[in-house]
Amino acid sequence: MSANKLKILSTEKAGLYKVPGHPEHPMRVLASLRHLQTLLPASVFEEPAAVSLEKVRAVHSELIVQTVQNESYIDPDTPGAKGIYQASLLSAGSALRTAEEALQGISAFSLMRPPGHHATPGQSMGFCYFNSMAVAVNDLIQNQKAKKIAIFDLDCHHGNGTEAFCLGKPEYLYVSLHQAPAYPGTGLSSRDNCLNFPLPPGTKEGVYFPAMEKAMEKIRIFKPDLMGVSMGFDTYERDPLTQFGLKQADYFRIGKMLKSMNIPMFTLLEGGYDRDLPVLIENYLTGWTS
Ligand SMILES: [Zn+2]
Repeated sequence: MSANKLKILSTEKAGLYKVPGHPEHPMRVLASLRHLQTLLPASVFEEPAAVSLEKVRAVHSELIVQTVQNESYIDPDTPGAKGIYQASLLSAGSALRTAEEALQGISAFSLMRPPGHHATPGQSMGFCYFNSMAVAVNDLIQNQKAKKIAIFDLDCHHGNGTEAFCLGKPEYLYVSLHQAPAYPGTGLSSRDNCLNFPLPPGTKEGVYFPAMEKAMEKIRIFKPDLMGVSMGFDTYERDPLTQFGLKQADYFRIGKMLKSMNIPMFTLLEGGYDRDLPVLIENYLTGWTS
């Protein structure tokens, strides 16, 4: 893995909240961070700062903001917990920082939790409280730091929240590869500027990569000046929540293919629930930066 022009935004504070028995647990980030720290110089790592509430309010309804602030129960997947508010602000702040780094030519990866892509402007759900991707790209567009942003969602689940944010806004192209049928049941067809590539359970590299090529072509045609990747590692063959069959080496290939697009790009961690997550992230970053 090359440390040249790589920046990883992460912190032990990503372990701030914990729901006993929940698959989205602190060690996802903490074990991944410790693993990467053994491979890369300290200069690659940066502590993220919390995003301002104003930037969250620019995307989410006041009801969402207050619910997360109060750390209230939302649903069984998204039960709230002590520390979730601070962790959500840090995760969104980290996302914005990685997006800003990407505009400076840095390959920036936000290794944080909670994930964000299921959170719609009006509803937290699916382990997601604030939509970090939406908060980040909205800030860049509002401040005219970017004109056209593509969001490439490679989590095994459809990013219904990010799609809801992007739909009908010409500054954005949302493109997703995901399992169908699967949670949350959306993303079965394309609409307007939101292009979906639903793939059946059991999808392995032979089906996955040709679909990814097609999706990449749509992004190239859009000619974005920035690409945000919502990277879920729950497409892995051993993931406990999903039924795709990608292998460890496939994440190297995904990283390399994204790099070949030659678009300024940042990556946010979304899902990925197997204990091999640190190695999957290592392979992805190696492909992206080599
Ligand atoms: Zn997922």
